Amino acid sequence: MALQIYNTMSRSKEVFVPQEPGKVKMYVCGPTVYGYMHIGNARPIIVFDMVRNYLEALGNEVRYLTNFTDVDDKMIRKAEEMNITVAEVADMFIAAYQEDLAGLGVKPATMNPRVTDSMDTIIGFIKELEEKGYAYENGGDVYYRTGKFSNYGKLSGQNLEELRFGIRVEVDSRKENQEDFVLWKAAKPGEVHWSSPWGEGRPGWHIECSAMVREYLGKTIDIHGGGEDLKFPHHECECAQTEALTGQPLSNYWMHNAFLNIGDEKMSKSLGNGLLVKDISARFKQGAIRYFMLSSHYRNPLNFTEEALQSAEKSVDRIALAEGNVKHRLELGKEEAAGEASPQITERLAAILGSFHARMQDDFNTPDAITAVFDWVSLANLTLADNHALNADLTALLKAFAEMNSVLRLTAEAEEEVASEEVERLIAERAEARKNKNWSRSDAIRDELNALGILLEDTPQGMRWRRK
Ligand code: AMP
Ligand code: ZN
Repeated sequence: MALQIYNTMSRSKEVFVPQEPGKVKMYVCGPTVYGYMHIGNARPIIVFDMVRNYLEALGNEVRYLTNFTDVDDKMIRKAEEMNITVAEVADMFIAAYQEDLAGLGVKPATMNPRVTDSMDTIIGFIKELEEKGYAYENGGDVYYRTGKFSNYGKLSGQNLEELRFGIRVEVDSRKENQEDFVLWKAAKPGEVHWSSPWGEGRPGWHIECSAMVREYLGKTIDIHGGGEDLKFPHHECECAQTEALTGQPLSNYWMHNAFLNIGDEKMSKSLGNGLLVKDISARFKQGAIRYFMLSSHYRNPLNFTEEALQSAEKSVDRIALAEGNVKHRLELGKEEAAGEASPQITERLAAILGSFHARMQDDFNTPDAITAVFDWVSLANLTLADNHALNADLTALLKAFAEMNSVLRLTAEAEEEVASEEVERLIAERAEARKNKNWSRSDAIRDELNALGILLEDTPQGMRWRRK
């Protein structure tokens, strides 16, 4: 089996081969931090987290970078609106972003470079472009000379002629050609600014990613990702900037996720209000949001509905219940000798993991990989129905589940473990109350647990609890 990735650049699936065996350099364009993340923004975040997890599960060491755009027009407007500085806006929404990420079960990036911390790197990059004739200054602005870069348009599959025809914006007399794009903007009076060889100003949007990639990851990376709206112009411009300087590809593989829509409308920041990640995270389990995002292939459009999330939550509950029951049974029988798993279970689990990996290796086909998780649920429930299930079988079941869940993260183990200490304490207290025939205390504890979202169940193995 070999991992295949659909490469936007070649418009085909290719076998994934990192430049250095066992090491993957990956960059995903990050947010402009002027507002709370909406549920559409969560799609690339969860998709590329899954990609990273899978690469790690295959034994790779992944360097995963995602930037923070902490200065641009929208940031400046937001600062004016809130009557605080641009830096304060950035700090506020970066903190909120990190909280959202934790709520989505997404691992922090290896590094989150900020534009305002990378000014020297960005200015140095533009200077080199100017020295090589790929950039020109006009009135304190600096533009990229697209006409000099013969590959402009290769990622989005357009040539310069088509682009010229497509441009309908008002003619900007400061540009040599209308498809040229800005690398550095002269500061308007009163705006935040940095000193540069072209006067006071700030970077254009596209340049930061090229500059950060080269500074922190090197000339060519293995995977570059982002939403499909970034293909053009953002990623096209990144390619033009980097390749003009290095003569090498910016990235060997380009991955783009399709959009999350609401009804037939594309989500945007303005539409997104009310559908913020922080609000949705408060109402639905982390695993449910991840399940919803991963139950569709990342290159297919996905429709957001309340019902889809509710049904995702039911599905993850089934998975978590089976996982919890296996763990519980293993806990009860922990005195027994471990031994070897039975051939039947070993064989079934190998088949389940085999199909999980085959699907994941086919360009991260998570919807089909999730069916392997449900095959596991069936096998787990079948095994649990046997009161004499072997400890070794239960252990093998859990190990297989962990292998799949380390990638998809549909059940939030850490969160449950912390909560379970309190729950176990209450259950023990309730058992004590019942022993002493203190029924009112016993009922009060049941209500308390109910308020915590915990249901008690009598099982042949004793009292069990589960989340509602
Ligand atoms: P933004 O901050 O809106 O520029 O977007 C940050 C990231 O989220 C980019 O990778 C976008 O492509 C992605 N994105 C924004 N809206 C959506 C959406 N509705 N569905 C999927 N990805 C989106
Ligand atoms: Zn970028």
